[in-house]
Amino acid sequence: MSFVERLVCSKCGTRYRSEDNPVMCRKKDLGRLDVIYDYDAVAKQLTRRTLSSRATRDIWRYEELLPVPTRYAVRLREGGTPLLHAKRLGAKLGLRKLFLKDETRNPTASFKDRAMAVGITKAVEMGKKDVVIASSGNAAASLAAYSAAAGIRCHAFVPDDASVGKLAQLRLYGATTVQRKQEKKGEDATVQAMLKAVEKSGYYPCPSFGPFNPYQVEGPKTMAYEIFEQMSWSSPDAIFIPTGSGCLATGIWKGVNDFKQLGLIEELPKLVVVQPEGNQALVRAIRAHKKFSEIIPEAFPKSIASGLLDPFPWDGDAAMAGVRETKGAGVSASEAEIMRAVKDLAAYEGVFSEPSGAAGLAGLRRMLEQGTVNKNETAVVLVTGSGLKDPNVIVDSA
Ligand SMILES: *Cc1c(COP(=O)(O)O)cnc(C)c1O
Ligand SMILES: [Zn+2]
Repeated sequence: MSFVERLVCSKCGTRYRSEDNPVMCRKKDLGRLDVIYDYDAVAKQLTRRTLSSRATRDIWRYEELLPVPTRYAVRLREGGTPLLHAKRLGAKLGLRKLFLKDETRNPTASFKDRAMAVGITKAVEMGKKDVVIASSGNAAASLAAYSAAAGIRCHAFVPDDASVGKLAQLRLYGATTVQRKQEKKGEDATVQAMLKAVEKSGYYPCPSFGPFNPYQVEGPKTMAYEIFEQMSWSSPDAIFIPTGSGCLATGIWKGVNDFKQLGLIEELPKLVVVQPEGNQALVRAIRAHKKFSEIIPEAFPKSIASGLLDPFPWDGDAAMAGVRETKGAGVSASEAEIMRAVKDLAAYEGVFSEPSGAAGLAGLRRMLEQGTVNKNETAVVLVTGSGLKDPNVIVDSA
């Protein structure tokens, strides 16, 4: 049984029936088709009690809040990652309650598995044979793995300088991979190539951006659900989110909002969006109280955090709403701050993160220094991708 009531375009408000399996708004307005659930029906089945009796530890634990039935699920044991109490790193920063959500433990070593598992499962339900993606590498590697497991062909467009770990994964998982260099200011060449392939070949688009696939956004919500369960239903004060396109931040906001609407939590944690200084269009807009429609893409993004280099935050609208509604913040981090975070995660907690995955910690530290986070707060830092993805950048700067 499905609990999806309908899908609604975030730009123009056009409603879609779930049975019609819409993927993009037919008005081509780059709106995201937000999945709306029947919370009354979900609330009857999904309670603290029913959850405590469920043995399933992967994302399908929360099947009522996913947009595709579990019987189609392509599973590699995505989600169910540990929430580590970072005592040594916390002591160094003066924080007693610092927690790391260790997403490096996912099947392809980044949180993108939560998104791509749902995206591919929807493709299986729709009977698709070919999927296409634009990505800096992690989402593509993940989609390639799930495609392999489902017997679907995967076509990936990645940047010319994609990291060796991510390219190796793509090759072995069997994706057709094309590398593209950014040429035009503010434009993502991989996204343009993906859109062309969708138009020409009718492939199912499954990038980790909401406007081009509304289903995958629902996967990362489960990270928020797990955090609440792992904290025995108390809300942390703040969650620190490494951000590129804003799709992860959107997922976390949707997840927090789902549990609030269902009455499973009371307090909303502050959502903190963290971007590298070399690509911070979304953070600038948040800090200047601008509207989403006023965001100007970063001309030529640059950072060692290669997973956070989307020139335009495709899901910035919902990410901004999440920051606003939770009284959160936007903060940037320098290259040195990001590298320091990579080293500290490894040296104090034994967690090996790629630079993108450590940006959340860099943002937390900057806010501690500014005095905008205080030392009694409970902070959850999302560590989103493994250091093995990008060992060269770490060896070069460590
Ligand atoms: C994709 C990615 C992010 C950012 O996610 P967005 O949805 O693009 O904001 C953060 N960390 C890692 C490791 C990633 O691969
Ligand atoms: Zn629309």
